[in-house]
Amino acid sequence: MTVQTGIKGTGCIRQQSDTASTNPDLIVKGTAITRYNIFIDEGQMIIHMSYMLRAVILEQTWERQLQDIIKLCKEANIEEVALKELSSHIIPVPFLLDRHRTMANIYSKMAKSLREEKIEFSINIIMLAGHSDGDVEAKYIMPYQKFVGEDLRELHATYCILDEEWQAYAADVCAVYAETRPDKLMIDDDFRSLNHGVQYGCFCPIHVRRTSERCGIELTAETLMHAVSGASAEDLRIKEAWMQINFEGQLKAARRMCAAVEQVSPATRLGLMNSGEPAHSLQGRDMDALLREFAGSRRPLSRPAGCSYSDTMHGELFTIHQVMALSKSVLGEDVQIVSEVENYPHTRFSKSIRITKLQLELHALAGAEDFTLNLYDYLATPYEQEPDFLKLLAAEKERLETIQAARKGKRMVGFGVPWKKDTALKQVSRRGLLSDVMPSRDPDQYLPQFGIPMQFQQGKGNLIFGDAVQCYDDAEVEELLSGGLMLDGLAFENLYNRGFGRYLGCKPDGSRVVDGFSVEQFGSNAFTGPFAGNLQTTNWSESKKHGKLPQRVCMDPDAKAISMLVDDHMKELAPGVVLFENELGGRVAIFTVPISSFQFLHRCRAYMVAKVAEWLMRESLPIWIEDCPNVGPIYYEGADGEGLLGIISGNLDGLDVKLHTDLQVFDLFTGEAINDLWMDPLSVRFFRTKKSMGAHRVMS
Ligand SMILES: [Zn+2]
Repeated sequence: MTVQTGIKGTGCIRQQSDTASTNPDLIVKGTAITRYNIFIDEGQMIIHMSYMLRAVILEQTWERQLQDIIKLCKEANIEEVALKELSSHIIPVPFLLDRHRTMANIYSKMAKSLREEKIEFSINIIMLAGHSDGDVEAKYIMPYQKFVGEDLRELHATYCILDEEWQAYAADVCAVYAETRPDKLMIDDDFRSLNHGVQYGCFCPIHVRRTSERCGIELTAETLMHAVSGASAEDLRIKEAWMQINFEGQLKAARRMCAAVEQVSPATRLGLMNSGEPAHSLQGRDMDALLREFAGSRRPLSRPAGCSYSDTMHGELFTIHQVMALSKSVLGEDVQIVSEVENYPHTRFSKSIRITKLQLELHALAGAEDFTLNLYDYLATPYEQEPDFLKLLAAEKERLETIQAARKGKRMVGFGVPWKKDTALKQVSRRGLLSDVMPSRDPDQYLPQFGIPMQFQQGKGNLIFGDAVQCYDDAEVEELLSGGLMLDGLAFENLYNRGFGRYLGCKPDGSRVVDGFSVEQFGSNAFTGPFAGNLQTTNWSESKKHGKLPQRVCMDPDAKAISMLVDDHMKELAPGVVLFENELGGRVAIFTVPISSFQFLHRCRAYMVAKVAEWLMRESLPIWIEDCPNVGPIYYEGADGEGLLGIISGNLDGLDVKLHTDLQVFDLFTGEAINDLWMDPLSVRFFRTKKSMGAHRVMS
């Protein structure tokens, strides 16, 4: 394919090219003209990404808002607008159909003007099931099954997606808006079966009846809820049936909405805004399948959760990347990912320009093609009252395109923390709490906070913790055990009980847990380095309240403990971290202390985990940042070894970064070779990397 000079900012046909080549001659410094991320417009190659403004329209002010929108789009270089039908800050529940018709009539007029101004017109239906409910007057309540959460009470005006009458309503609303011929119709993330003010669900009569029919066990809302949070074999059978019928109901709703749109406006793409993967898992969702059900014959369109709705720091800054990257990792490459940049409740009192900028850039790193912008309030306040967002958007576009171009064709590389979509099914509560069933992904923050790059695909070394290990069948476990495998105490116990004890180097001690005064003492070895003798809290008393205590194991003769659990007199109780090389040729590390921030986020633990990770992988990490709390790498690499490195600082102090790597590192925007690396507080920097043949380098 011949590469011509790109022209930015012109209209283009969104047909993506296939190439992901990395000829450095094609990279023009400081611009976004590369062979990546190119689109074809009558033979011309164009770098393209869109800002998609999400704008709440009020019936009374739409004409003034239209002028506002057009002006902002021109000044901030925004290509697309997704109109939202009402202010949830006035009416907190879904609209009746006639009001949707009123809004669709307004949209038709707005769409005409937007098209004349060459602004893409789309729609974001803000509420169909309802987000957080509201105690509204009876005339605003529709006659559909209400959602039922863990308190087993029906909500006021938030509906169950499985109700076929509600599905007909949702399809009708989609059809009404499809008549305005939007480019995209985005369903908001209230299309979910949890988190409607009450956290878990749904336990409504439809869910109870269908689950009961599916598993052949008589159920009430209460017995269903207890089964979902239970641990017996029968509980698991009920829980599986509940997840299945839930997802099937969501698929059916999506199919009906898609059919309604295709009948009226075949060119309109139906996309879904969604939550994080743990929440999808609890709903029994296969996201790739659900997005394709919405999309019908068109390209699937997803807006993953954007995180950071207000200012964030420390590990939370990493979740901005990780949550989207994890969601992207479960989808086919053809799925269009648009980012969610949302400031809630839309005031700079809660979210700064600085964090908004970071969010845009971290979403570009995670693989966002376009950016939905929920920056301005839901009450039609003139945009000119918040001029800083306009300045930000105008200044960021070129930077975002440069990051996107460098990101294209690469995959996340580092220590593996793989994900399985059935984690919530396999994860059980040992104390009967629904909250225990929601999968944790805390290590997605901890590893980068430690300075360790990670990936969601299975790698040479992998961390699998808790009941997530039960998502792997025996053959898969054996494969994991023949590589490098990091486990917590619960994952160890699960594998031991499944008969894998001989490969683990430990067996459970009779009393199973260390219950009582305990603290972990680091030994003197290559994995603890300068921290030999350090004490680390096991936080046993608090952890016990959460049903978690250190696992008590006894070691095989060939296993080695690099730390020990000791009592208040420093008398040894049981091994802390155990390393073992098994007969499969694999290496196993067992952390007997529960993995939580209180026990883990310390300098000595960061050092130990990095050293153990490298031992498990039998090679150096591609990058390791030593002793820079909350400063961590996200590393993407192409097949040819060219890389894109993002370094995030969630630290409120500026830091000199001690970077261990064999890679050659260049500033992405200036091309300058990097030898010293400074990170400002709450910041992200981007680097192009190349594999070098030279010796291992340390920058500090
Ligand atoms: Zn229900």
